[in-house]
Amino acid sequence: MNGALYLRDPYLRTFDAEVIEVVGNEIVLSHTAFYPQSGGQPSDTGVLTKGEETYRVVDVRKKEGRIVHLVDHEGIQPGDGVEGSIDWDHRYLLMRYHTAAHVLSAVIHNATGAEITGNQLGEDKARIDFNLEQFDRDAMKTYEQKANELIKANKPVTIRFISREEAEKIPTLCKLAKGLPGDIQEIRVITIEDLDEQACGGCHVKNTSEVGRISITAMENKGKNNRRLYFMIEK
Ligand SMILES: [Zn+2]
Repeated sequence: MNGALYLRDPYLRTFDAEVIEVVGNEIVLSHTAFYPQSGGQPSDTGVLTKGEETYRVVDVRKKEGRIVHLVDHEGIQPGDGVEGSIDWDHRYLLMRYHTAAHVLSAVIHNATGAEITGNQLGEDKARIDFNLEQFDRDAMKTYEQKANELIKANKPVTIRFISREEAEKIPTLCKLAKGLPGDIQEIRVITIEDLDEQACGGCHVKNTSEVGRISITAMENKGKNNRRLYFMIEK
Protein backbone atom coordinates (compact mmCIF):
# COMPACT_ATOMS: atom_id res chain seq x y z
CA MET A 1 0.00 0.00 0.00
CA ASN A 2 1.77 3.15 -1.24
CA GLY A 3 2.27 5.95 1.27
CA ALA A 4 0.97 3.93 4.23
CA LEU A 5 3.07 5.39 7.04
CA TYR A 6 1.45 3.19 9.72
CA LEU A 7 3.09 0.09 8.22
CA ARG A 8 6.55 1.19 9.38
CA ASP A 9 5.63 3.49 12.27
CA PRO A 10 2.36 2.64 14.05
CA TYR A 11 3.16 5.25 16.73
CA LEU A 12 3.01 8.15 14.25
CA ARG A 13 0.05 10.37 15.22
CA THR A 14 0.49 13.49 13.06
CA PHE A 15 1.93 14.11 9.61
CA ASP A 16 1.95 16.64 6.76
CA ALA A 17 0.77 15.57 3.33
CA GLU A 18 -0.32 16.85 -0.06
CA VAL A 19 -3.82 16.25 -1.36
CA ILE A 20 -3.61 14.12 -4.51
CA GLU A 21 -7.24 13.60 -5.40
CA VAL A 22 -10.66 14.72 -4.20
CA VAL A 23 -14.01 13.20 -5.12
CA GLY A 24 -16.79 14.79 -3.07
CA ASN A 25 -15.92 14.03 0.56
CA GLU A 26 -13.29 11.44 -0.35
CA ILE A 27 -9.67 12.53 -0.05
CA VAL A 28 -6.53 10.74 -1.26
CA LEU A 29 -3.24 12.00 0.23
CA SER A 30 0.40 11.66 -0.89
CA HIS A 31 0.92 9.54 2.26
CA THR A 32 -0.98 8.94 5.47
CA ALA A 33 -0.83 7.63 9.03
CA PHE A 34 -4.58 6.83 8.93
CA TYR A 35 -5.27 3.09 8.99
CA PRO A 36 -7.96 1.96 6.53
CA GLN A 37 -10.39 -0.67 7.81
CA SER A 38 -9.03 -4.12 6.96
CA GLY A 39 -8.06 -7.46 8.44
CA GLY A 40 -10.58 -7.11 11.27
CA GLN A 41 -9.07 -3.83 12.49
CA PRO A 42 -11.48 -0.85 12.29
CA SER A 43 -10.38 2.33 10.51
CA ASP A 44 -8.79 5.26 12.26
CA THR A 45 -10.65 8.49 12.81
CA GLY A 46 -9.18 11.94 13.36
CA VAL A 47 -8.83 15.29 11.56
CA LEU A 48 -7.26 16.87 8.51
CA THR A 49 -6.37 20.54 9.02
CA LYS A 50 -5.95 23.02 6.16
CA GLY A 51 -4.93 26.44 7.47
CA GLU A 52 -7.59 27.44 9.98
CA GLU A 53 -10.12 24.88 8.86
CA THR A 54 -10.56 21.44 10.35
CA TYR A 55 -12.13 18.47 8.56
CA ARG A 56 -13.20 15.46 10.61
CA VAL A 57 -12.08 12.09 9.18
CA VAL A 58 -15.00 9.77 9.88
CA ASP A 59 -13.89 6.68 7.93
CA VAL A 60 -10.87 5.40 6.01
CA ARG A 61 -11.07 2.69 3.35
CA LYS A 62 -8.88 0.95 0.80
CA LYS A 63 -10.19 1.58 -2.70
CA GLU A 64 -8.47 0.41 -5.87
CA GLY A 65 -5.08 0.23 -4.15
CA ARG A 66 -5.36 3.67 -2.56
CA ILE A 67 -6.24 4.90 0.91
CA VAL A 68 -9.36 7.07 0.86
CA HIS A 69 -10.24 9.40 3.76
CA LEU A 70 -13.92 10.23 4.14
CA VAL A 71 -14.29 13.74 5.67
CA ASP A 72 -17.37 15.39 7.17
CA HIS A 73 -17.59 18.31 4.71
CA GLU A 74 -16.23 19.48 1.38
CA GLY A 75 -13.63 22.21 0.79
CA ILE A 76 -10.31 20.39 0.45
CA GLN A 77 -8.82 20.74 -3.05
CA PRO A 78 -6.19 18.75 -4.97
CA GLY A 79 -2.76 20.28 -4.35
CA ASP A 80 -3.66 21.53 -0.85
CA GLY A 81 -1.25 20.91 1.99
CA VAL A 82 -2.91 19.39 5.06
CA GLU A 83 -1.89 18.21 8.49
CA GLY A 84 -3.34 14.86 9.50
CA SER A 85 -3.88 13.88 13.10
CA ILE A 86 -5.30 10.54 14.16
CA ASP A 87 -7.45 9.91 17.26
CA TRP A 88 -4.74 8.30 19.31
CA ASP A 89 -6.80 6.83 22.17
CA HIS A 90 -8.92 4.90 19.66
CA ARG A 91 -5.92 3.69 17.63
CA TYR A 92 -3.76 2.79 20.63
CA LEU A 93 -6.50 0.67 22.17
CA LEU A 94 -6.87 -1.17 18.84
CA MET A 95 -3.08 -1.69 18.74
CA ARG A 96 -3.27 -3.29 22.19
CA TYR A 97 -6.21 -5.48 21.13
CA HIS A 98 -4.49 -6.45 17.89
CA THR A 99 -1.30 -7.50 19.68
CA ALA A 100 -3.32 -9.43 22.26
CA ALA A 101 -5.07 -11.26 19.40
CA HIS A 102 -1.67 -12.38 18.05
CA VAL A 103 -0.58 -13.66 21.46
CA LEU A 104 -3.83 -15.53 22.09
CA SER A 105 -3.90 -16.96 18.55
CA ALA A 106 -0.32 -18.18 18.91
CA VAL A 107 -1.07 -19.85 22.24
CA ILE A 108 -4.13 -21.63 20.85
CA HIS A 109 -2.43 -22.50 17.56
CA ASN A 110 0.59 -23.93 19.38
CA ALA A 111 -1.62 -26.02 21.64
CA THR A 112 -4.13 -27.29 19.07
CA GLY A 113 -2.83 -26.56 15.55
CA ALA A 114 -6.04 -24.59 14.86
CA GLU A 115 -5.92 -21.90 12.19
CA ILE A 116 -7.65 -18.53 12.35
CA THR A 117 -10.71 -18.26 10.14
CA GLY A 118 -11.70 -14.71 11.08
CA ASN A 119 -11.31 -11.93 13.59
CA GLN A 120 -12.82 -8.60 14.53
CA LEU A 121 -11.28 -6.06 16.88
CA GLY A 122 -13.26 -3.43 18.79
CA GLU A 123 -12.67 -0.90 21.54
CA ASP A 124 -14.35 -2.93 24.26
CA LYS A 125 -13.94 -6.48 22.98
CA ALA A 126 -12.48 -8.58 20.21
CA ARG A 127 -13.29 -11.95 18.71
CA ILE A 128 -11.25 -14.61 16.98
CA ASP A 129 -12.61 -17.60 15.02
CA PHE A 130 -10.66 -20.86 14.87
CA ASN A 131 -11.18 -24.00 12.80
CA LEU A 132 -11.35 -26.10 15.92
CA GLU A 133 -13.55 -29.11 16.64
CA GLN A 134 -13.00 -29.40 20.36
CA PHE A 135 -14.50 -26.83 22.64
CA ASP A 136 -13.10 -27.14 26.10
CA ARG A 137 -13.73 -24.44 28.69
CA ASP A 138 -10.96 -25.64 31.00
CA ALA A 139 -8.47 -25.47 28.15
CA MET A 140 -9.64 -21.94 27.39
CA LYS A 141 -8.80 -20.89 30.96
CA THR A 142 -5.34 -22.37 30.49
CA TYR A 143 -4.88 -20.43 27.24
CA GLU A 144 -5.96 -17.22 28.93
CA GLN A 145 -3.46 -17.74 31.72
CA LYS A 146 -0.66 -18.61 29.31
CA ALA A 147 -1.43 -15.56 27.15
CA ASN A 148 -1.31 -13.29 30.20
CA GLU A 149 2.05 -14.72 31.26
CA LEU A 150 3.47 -14.02 27.80
CA ILE A 151 1.99 -10.51 27.71
CA LYS A 152 3.55 -9.73 31.10
CA ALA A 153 6.94 -11.04 29.96
CA ASN A 154 7.87 -7.77 28.14
CA LYS A 155 8.28 -9.39 24.74
CA PRO A 156 9.39 -7.06 21.94
CA VAL A 157 7.10 -6.89 18.91
CA THR A 158 8.95 -6.04 15.70
CA ILE A 159 8.10 -5.29 12.06
CA ARG A 160 10.00 -6.47 9.00
CA PHE A 161 9.35 -6.77 5.29
CA ILE A 162 10.29 -9.80 3.19
CA SER A 163 9.64 -10.92 -0.36
CA ARG A 164 6.71 -13.18 -1.12
CA GLU A 165 9.18 -15.87 -2.25
CA GLU A 166 10.93 -15.74 1.12
CA ALA A 167 7.59 -15.74 2.97
CA GLU A 168 6.40 -18.86 1.18
CA LYS A 169 9.40 -20.76 2.57
CA ILE A 170 8.24 -20.12 6.16
CA PRO A 171 5.20 -22.37 6.68
CA THR A 172 4.47 -21.02 10.18
CA LEU A 173 4.19 -17.44 8.94
CA CYS A 174 0.54 -17.61 8.13
CA LYS A 175 -1.97 -18.77 10.70
CA LEU A 176 -4.87 -17.64 8.59
CA ALA A 177 -6.73 -20.55 7.07
CA LYS A 178 -7.03 -18.68 3.77
CA GLY A 179 -3.25 -18.21 3.43
CA LEU A 180 -1.16 -15.21 2.41
CA PRO A 181 -2.98 -12.36 0.63
CA GLY A 182 -2.99 -13.08 -3.10
CA ASP A 183 -2.07 -9.68 -4.50
CA ILE A 184 0.92 -8.60 -2.39
CA GLN A 185 4.57 -9.09 -3.38
CA GLU A 186 6.13 -7.62 -0.24
CA ILE A 187 5.00 -9.38 2.93
CA ARG A 188 4.99 -7.56 6.26
CA VAL A 189 5.94 -9.82 9.14
CA ILE A 190 5.11 -9.12 12.78
CA THR A 191 7.31 -11.00 15.24
CA ILE A 192 6.65 -11.43 18.94
CA GLU A 193 9.96 -12.56 20.36
CA ASP A 194 10.18 -16.30 21.14
CA LEU A 195 6.48 -16.77 20.42
CA ASP A 196 5.05 -15.89 17.07
CA GLU A 197 5.69 -14.70 13.54
CA GLN A 198 2.74 -13.66 11.42
CA ALA A 199 2.13 -11.99 8.09
CA CYS A 200 -0.04 -9.01 9.02
CA GLY A 201 -0.75 -5.48 7.79
CA GLY A 202 -2.30 -4.15 11.00
CA CYS A 203 -1.13 -1.97 13.89
CA HIS A 204 0.52 -3.46 16.98
CA VAL A 205 2.27 -2.16 20.11
CA LYS A 206 6.07 -2.48 20.30
CA ASN A 207 6.14 -4.51 23.49
CA THR A 208 3.61 -7.00 24.87
CA SER A 209 3.72 -5.27 28.26
CA GLU A 210 1.69 -2.41 26.72
CA VAL A 211 -1.29 -4.74 26.18
CA GLY A 212 -2.42 -5.17 29.79
CA ARG A 213 -4.30 -8.12 31.22
CA ILE A 214 -6.79 -9.94 29.01
CA SER A 215 -9.73 -12.18 29.81
CA ILE A 216 -11.67 -14.59 27.63
CA THR A 217 -15.28 -13.54 28.12
CA ALA A 218 -17.30 -15.90 25.92
CA MET A 219 -17.06 -18.84 23.54
CA GLU A 220 -19.51 -19.90 20.88
CA ASN A 221 -19.99 -22.70 18.39
CA LYS A 222 -20.11 -21.28 14.90
CA GLY A 223 -20.66 -24.40 12.84
CA LYS A 224 -19.23 -27.88 13.01
CA ASN A 225 -15.56 -27.01 12.75
CA ASN A 226 -15.58 -23.39 13.83
CA ARG A 227 -15.25 -21.94 17.31
CA ARG A 228 -15.57 -18.25 18.17
CA LEU A 229 -13.84 -16.79 21.17
CA TYR A 230 -14.39 -13.32 22.66
CA PHE A 231 -11.84 -11.57 24.83
CA MET A 232 -11.38 -8.17 26.38
CA ILE A 233 -8.55 -6.14 27.81
CA GLU A 234 -9.30 -5.51 31.46
CA LYS A 235 -9.72 -1.84 32.32
ZN1 LIG B 1 -1.61 -8.23 13.28
